[in-house]
Amino acid sequence: MRHVIYPGTFDPITNGHLDIIERATTLFDTVTIGVTTNPTKNPLFTVEERVAMIREVTRHFNNIRVESFTGLLVDYAQRLGASAIIRGLRAISDFEYEFQMALVNRKISDGIVTVFLMPHEKYTYLNSTIVKELATFGGDVSRFVPPAVEALIKQKIVKKALGG
Ligand code: ADP
Repeated sequence: MRHVIYPGTFDPITNGHLDIIERATTLFDTVTIGVTTNPTKNPLFTVEERVAMIREVTRHFNNIRVESFTGLLVDYAQRLGASAIIRGLRAISDFEYEFQMALVNRKISDGIVTVFLMPHEKYTYLNSTIVKELATFGGDVSRFVPPAVEALIKQKIVKKALGG
Protein backbone atom coordinates (compact mmCIF):
# COMPACT_ATOMS: atom_id res chain seq x y z
CA MET A 1 0.00 0.00 0.00
CA ARG A 2 1.76 3.14 -1.20
CA HIS A 3 0.71 6.14 0.87
CA VAL A 4 1.98 9.65 0.13
CA ILE A 5 1.51 13.02 1.79
CA TYR A 6 1.10 16.20 -0.19
CA PRO A 7 1.70 18.99 2.34
CA GLY A 8 1.12 22.69 1.84
CA THR A 9 -0.62 25.84 2.94
CA PHE A 10 -3.22 25.72 0.12
CA ASP A 11 -4.43 29.28 0.81
CA PRO A 12 -6.38 28.66 -1.39
CA ILE A 13 -6.01 25.47 -3.44
CA THR A 14 -5.38 26.31 -7.12
CA ASN A 15 -5.57 24.42 -10.41
CA GLY A 16 -1.77 24.00 -10.14
CA HIS A 17 -2.16 22.11 -6.85
CA LEU A 18 -4.96 20.04 -8.41
CA ASP A 19 -2.72 19.14 -11.34
CA ILE A 20 -0.11 17.77 -8.89
CA ILE A 21 -2.81 15.96 -6.88
CA GLU A 22 -4.14 14.26 -9.99
CA ARG A 23 -0.66 13.06 -10.96
CA ALA A 24 -0.07 11.81 -7.40
CA THR A 25 -3.30 9.78 -7.38
CA THR A 26 -2.08 7.76 -10.36
CA LEU A 27 1.23 6.93 -8.66
CA PHE A 28 0.10 6.15 -5.11
CA ASP A 29 -2.72 4.13 -3.57
CA THR A 30 -3.60 6.84 -1.05
CA VAL A 31 -2.82 10.56 -1.13
CA THR A 32 -3.21 12.49 2.11
CA ILE A 33 -3.35 16.22 1.60
CA GLY A 34 -1.85 17.70 4.76
CA VAL A 35 -2.84 21.30 5.31
CA THR A 36 -0.41 23.28 7.44
CA THR A 37 -1.60 25.98 9.79
CA ASN A 38 1.42 28.16 8.90
CA PRO A 39 0.42 31.29 10.88
CA THR A 40 3.56 33.15 9.71
CA LYS A 41 1.99 33.31 6.25
CA ASN A 42 -1.08 35.17 7.60
CA PRO A 43 -3.52 33.06 5.59
CA LEU A 44 -6.71 34.43 4.02
CA PHE A 45 -8.63 31.25 4.92
CA THR A 46 -8.62 29.43 8.26
CA VAL A 47 -7.19 25.95 8.24
CA GLU A 48 -10.72 24.50 8.67
CA GLU A 49 -11.92 26.48 5.63
CA ARG A 50 -8.96 25.28 3.57
CA VAL A 51 -9.56 21.64 4.54
CA ALA A 52 -13.28 21.95 3.68
CA MET A 53 -12.66 23.56 0.29
CA ILE A 54 -10.01 20.98 -0.67
CA ARG A 55 -12.43 18.16 0.28
CA GLU A 56 -15.08 19.77 -1.88
CA VAL A 57 -12.91 20.08 -5.00
CA THR A 58 -11.27 16.64 -4.67
CA ARG A 59 -14.52 14.73 -4.03
CA HIS A 60 -14.27 12.99 -7.42
CA PHE A 61 -11.07 11.15 -6.44
CA ASN A 62 -11.58 8.00 -4.41
CA ASN A 63 -8.09 7.73 -2.91
CA ILE A 64 -7.68 11.14 -1.29
CA ARG A 65 -7.85 12.16 2.36
CA VAL A 66 -7.66 15.75 3.52
CA GLU A 67 -6.68 16.86 7.02
CA SER A 68 -4.68 19.50 8.84
CA PHE A 69 -1.50 18.89 10.77
CA THR A 70 0.92 20.75 13.00
CA GLY A 71 4.52 20.00 13.83
CA LEU A 72 7.21 18.33 11.80
CA LEU A 73 6.21 16.93 8.43
CA VAL A 74 8.31 13.79 8.79
CA ASP A 75 6.74 13.03 12.20
CA TYR A 76 3.32 13.41 10.61
CA ALA A 77 4.34 11.12 7.72
CA GLN A 78 5.54 8.51 10.19
CA ARG A 79 2.33 8.75 12.23
CA LEU A 80 0.32 8.09 9.06
CA GLY A 81 2.59 5.32 7.85
CA ALA A 82 3.31 7.23 4.63
CA SER A 83 6.47 6.38 2.73
CA ALA A 84 6.74 9.53 0.61
CA ILE A 85 6.16 13.27 0.44
CA ILE A 86 5.02 14.99 -2.76
CA ARG A 87 6.12 18.52 -3.60
CA GLY A 88 5.40 20.48 -6.76
CA LEU A 89 8.26 22.04 -8.72
CA ARG A 90 7.25 24.89 -10.97
CA ALA A 91 10.47 26.62 -11.81
CA ILE A 92 14.13 26.84 -10.92
CA SER A 93 13.14 29.40 -8.28
CA ASP A 94 11.36 26.64 -6.31
CA PHE A 95 14.34 24.35 -6.53
CA GLU A 96 16.76 25.63 -3.92
CA TYR A 97 14.27 25.78 -1.05
CA GLU A 98 12.66 22.46 -1.96
CA PHE A 99 16.05 20.76 -2.34
CA GLN A 100 17.08 22.00 1.10
CA MET A 101 13.82 20.85 2.71
CA ALA A 102 14.04 17.44 1.07
CA LEU A 103 17.60 16.92 2.31
CA VAL A 104 16.74 18.05 5.84
CA ASN A 105 13.74 15.72 5.90
CA ARG A 106 15.93 12.88 4.67
CA LYS A 107 18.44 13.58 7.44
CA ILE A 108 15.67 13.43 10.03
CA SER A 109 14.00 10.35 8.60
CA ASP A 110 15.85 8.31 6.02
CA GLY A 111 12.83 6.13 5.23
CA ILE A 112 10.66 8.89 3.80
CA VAL A 113 11.30 9.81 0.19
CA THR A 114 10.50 13.22 -1.32
CA VAL A 115 9.03 13.00 -4.80
CA PHE A 116 8.92 16.10 -7.01
CA LEU A 117 6.22 16.42 -9.62
CA MET A 118 6.00 19.05 -12.35
CA PRO A 119 2.62 20.48 -13.23
CA HIS A 120 1.49 21.20 -16.77
CA GLU A 121 3.52 24.18 -17.99
CA LYS A 122 0.41 26.37 -18.05
CA TYR A 123 0.52 26.32 -14.22
CA THR A 124 4.19 27.12 -13.76
CA TYR A 125 3.55 30.81 -13.02
CA LEU A 126 0.59 30.16 -10.74
CA ASN A 127 0.58 30.41 -6.97
CA SER A 128 -1.97 31.12 -4.24
CA THR A 129 -0.59 34.60 -3.56
CA ILE A 130 -1.12 35.73 -7.16
CA VAL A 131 -4.70 34.43 -7.07
CA LYS A 132 -5.43 36.36 -3.85
CA GLU A 133 -3.87 39.57 -5.16
CA LEU A 134 -5.73 39.35 -8.43
CA ALA A 135 -9.05 38.71 -6.69
CA THR A 136 -8.50 41.57 -4.23
CA PHE A 137 -8.25 44.00 -7.13
CA GLY A 138 -11.30 42.60 -8.88
CA GLY A 139 -9.44 40.43 -11.40
CA ASP A 140 -10.91 37.27 -12.91
CA VAL A 141 -9.46 34.18 -11.22
CA SER A 142 -11.78 31.64 -12.87
CA ARG A 143 -8.95 30.17 -14.97
CA PHE A 144 -6.78 29.57 -11.92
CA VAL A 145 -9.07 27.98 -9.33
CA PRO A 146 -12.14 25.70 -9.41
CA PRO A 147 -15.52 27.52 -9.41
CA ALA A 148 -16.27 26.58 -5.77
CA VAL A 149 -12.99 28.13 -4.65
CA GLU A 150 -13.57 31.23 -6.76
CA ALA A 151 -16.92 31.76 -5.00
CA LEU A 152 -15.31 31.36 -1.56
CA ILE A 153 -12.53 33.84 -2.41
CA LYS A 154 -15.10 36.42 -3.51
CA GLN A 155 -17.12 35.93 -0.31
CA LYS A 156 -14.02 36.25 1.85
CA ILE A 157 -12.81 39.38 0.12
CA VAL A 158 -16.20 41.08 0.45
CA LYS A 159 -16.29 40.08 4.13
CA LYS A 160 -12.79 41.46 4.68
CA ALA A 161 -13.68 44.70 2.92
CA LEU A 162 -16.62 45.05 5.31
CA GLY A 163 -14.23 44.59 8.21
CA GLY A 164 -15.17 40.96 9.01
P1 ADP B 1 3.87 25.81 0.99
O1 ADP B 1 3.65 26.96 1.92
O2 ADP B 1 4.11 24.51 1.67
O3 ADP B 1 4.82 26.04 -0.14
P2 ADP B 1 1.79 25.97 -1.02
O4 ADP B 1 0.33 25.77 -0.82
O5 ADP B 1 2.25 27.28 -1.53
O6 ADP B 1 2.41 25.61 0.38
O7 ADP B 1 2.35 24.85 -1.97
C1 ADP B 1 2.24 23.48 -1.67
C2 ADP B 1 3.01 22.67 -2.70
O8 ADP B 1 2.37 22.83 -3.97
C3 ADP B 1 4.45 23.10 -2.91
O9 ADP B 1 5.22 21.94 -3.19
C4 ADP B 1 4.40 23.99 -4.12
O10 ADP B 1 5.62 23.98 -4.84
C5 ADP B 1 3.31 23.31 -4.92
N1 ADP B 1 2.63 24.24 -5.83
C6 ADP B 1 2.08 25.44 -5.55
N2 ADP B 1 1.54 26.02 -6.65
C7 ADP B 1 1.77 25.13 -7.67
C8 ADP B 1 1.51 25.14 -9.07
N3 ADP B 1 0.94 26.17 -9.68
N4 ADP B 1 1.89 24.07 -9.77
C9 ADP B 1 2.51 23.04 -9.17
N5 ADP B 1 2.83 22.97 -7.88
C10 ADP B 1 2.45 24.01 -7.13
